Amino acid sequence: MNRVRPQFACSRVNRACFSIHRPAALLEAVAANTKTRTLLANHVAELLNCTRCTQMGKPVVSGGPVVSKVILMGQAPGDKEPLLSRPFAWTAGKTLFSWFERACGISEKAFRSRVYMAAVCRCFPGKKAGGGDRVPSDDEIANCAGWLHREVAILRPELIIPVGKLAIAQFISVERLDEIVGTRRSIIFAGHRMDLIPLPDPSGASPWHRIEPGKTLLDRALKLIIAHPAFRKLVVS
Ligand code: SF4
Repeated sequence: MNRVRPQFACSRVNRACFSIHRPAALLEAVAANTKTRTLLANHVAELLNCTRCTQMGKPVVSGGPVVSKVILMGQAPGDKEPLLSRPFAWTAGKTLFSWFERACGISEKAFRSRVYMAAVCRCFPGKKAGGGDRVPSDDEIANCAGWLHREVAILRPELIIPVGKLAIAQFISVERLDEIVGTRRSIIFAGHRMDLIPLPDPSGASPWHRIEPGKTLLDRALKLIIAHPAFRKLVVS
């Protein structure tokens, strides 16, 4: 059985003091953590069986029940992710994880085990007639938003990182990426306040992040993310 490790913001010395002098608080923290893990595991099991959108490819793609105060939200899986059973499993993921490795040394494996990975839509939408992936319809986006609302209610995240315009647009209005990438703002979503730091689409579909001002703004966004208290806790834990 997995041992439950409570999350503490304090140092090792303070953690020891906490457990000696406040055993009731420690038990409460462990119980809350166990409840969150159970709720999230049940949620992901239900998500994996979702059939709300008839035009979407299957299976549903999920990063698994990772209890975290940081959510990374992509747009929708491509054709490789359902085969590999994880989000950002192909070239866009390679680029995305290389950004974080370069910025703070976190490996893809560590990132996947510490950050909850969501998406605007969790299923592959299929290809467009002219090539490229189909953009999910408004109905499909609305269908899938229910899953995110529940994830926010369970995890109570402190930071959300939407990746790409479609993901960013679920939280704030977005006209131009260069006005919002490289910024941090506080938002209320599903009745919960959290910080939002957007990233550009890492797929080869857009060169935005490879040319100026995108390159500089991407670096600024990554610096904001790794300096965020919720992300720092993940990296040092
Ligand atoms: S896109 Fe979302 S809501 Fe639609 S079938 Fe897939 S998981 Fe369900």
